[in-house]
Amino acid sequence: MNAVTTNVRKDGSVSILVVNAGSSSVKFGLFRFDTLEPVARGVLDWGAIEQNSGADRAVLTLTPQSGEPLRRELDAPDYRHGVIAALAVLEQAGYTAAGSEIRVTGHRLIHGGEEIRRPVRIDAAMKETIARYAHLAPLHIPPGLEAVAATEAALPGVPQVGVFDTAFFADVPPHAYLYPLPYEWYEDWGIRRYGFHGTSHAYCTGRAAEMLRRALADLRLIVCHLGQGSSATAVRDGVAVTNTMGYTPLEGFMMGTRCGTVDPGILLHVQREHGLSVEQLDDVLHHKSGLLGLSGISSDFRRVEAAAADGHRRARLALDVYAYRVRTTIGALAAAIGGVDAVVFTGGIGENSAWLRSEACRGLEFLGLRLDDSRNADCRPDADISAADAPVRVLVIHTREDLMIAREARRLVS
Ligand code: ADP
Repeated sequence: MNAVTTNVRKDGSVSILVVNAGSSSVKFGLFRFDTLEPVARGVLDWGAIEQNSGADRAVLTLTPQSGEPLRRELDAPDYRHGVIAALAVLEQAGYTAAGSEIRVTGHRLIHGGEEIRRPVRIDAAMKETIARYAHLAPLHIPPGLEAVAATEAALPGVPQVGVFDTAFFADVPPHAYLYPLPYEWYEDWGIRRYGFHGTSHAYCTGRAAEMLRRALADLRLIVCHLGQGSSATAVRDGVAVTNTMGYTPLEGFMMGTRCGTVDPGILLHVQREHGLSVEQLDDVLHHKSGLLGLSGISSDFRRVEAAAADGHRRARLALDVYAYRVRTTIGALAAAIGGVDAVVFTGGIGENSAWLRSEACRGLEFLGLRLDDSRNADCRPDADISAADAPVRVLVIHTREDLMIAREARRLVS
């Protein structure tokens, strides 16, 4: 492999490697162990490759905190080789020196079932436990475990920590996680609501308390993570009481291409009356619904907003449905925690769309939500955008899942 020239500085500090393995890409983050300052981030993306380069190659983009990004095409016939090749580039760029400078690796893992309720050290037994939940998140758990194997091989002896998206919901009570289906479905098949995006919701919960200078034990929060996937969590006294996603990440808000909550009777009807197969239905619910399905234009909120501004009727409808669902969910979650002290918006849409924030809060004055329109319009996260005298604060927080994982990884080895 060629030597890498980049103006990254190797300063000899010990670091934390954060690995976030998705279905077609792996994101990396490097943080200083002592200060948790970010050093660099990277993405290894199999989807970014030219068609004619073959499926066994991927593109690594490495962006140092200061300095020019670096882009390399790598041999990555499978996930494991891809991650190992990416770590070799990190080493050549002066970050990792054969693992000796990485003190711990923190992995984002989507699902820990009912068993894993907090961040854990990953050993052989823990890998088996995690693998038992692969059927609950088939697109994420297998790549996550492959990433664990790859970093184990590339960084021998470096402890590995797993941070689970479902863990923040470990204390959700049965009345919030049970579906009114035959109880045996829960007992025998594990069908219940689990909740997702927990790492983001947990980070925003802590950050909101910090911004409000209030103890978590004294706060009722509603955190709306609105990105390509979206969910909201009601948090009381620092504990998640419910999350809008369910057995799978299809439930709850309308999303980029996912439908969110719909009448399950529709699914029976279209199979019976219109002959849709299970596979077709799966494809429609995951990939052809949400913003894309309603607008007919795009799954990307920005593009739908632009089309609506140009007078596109279905784009406008899609946005209206989206905002209505966020607004009514905030109302429902306030009921779950007996009122609300602060609402948080985060994720690509929550952090960037002033229109969505304004529409989602419209009509919720009865709960105490009132925005300062100019603060909302000019908002740079992290910010408080509520009117000075409003009883409920509305915060916009830039989510930092990677930082949360780095923090937890450091805690477990300290
Ligand atoms: P992911 O869930 O993949 O992490 P993000 O949290 O980055 O996704 O959110 C992606 C969404 O954020 C997209 O729908 C995108 O259009 C939207 N978004 C990003 N920037 C803006 C913006 N300035 N205004 C409105 N929407 C935005």
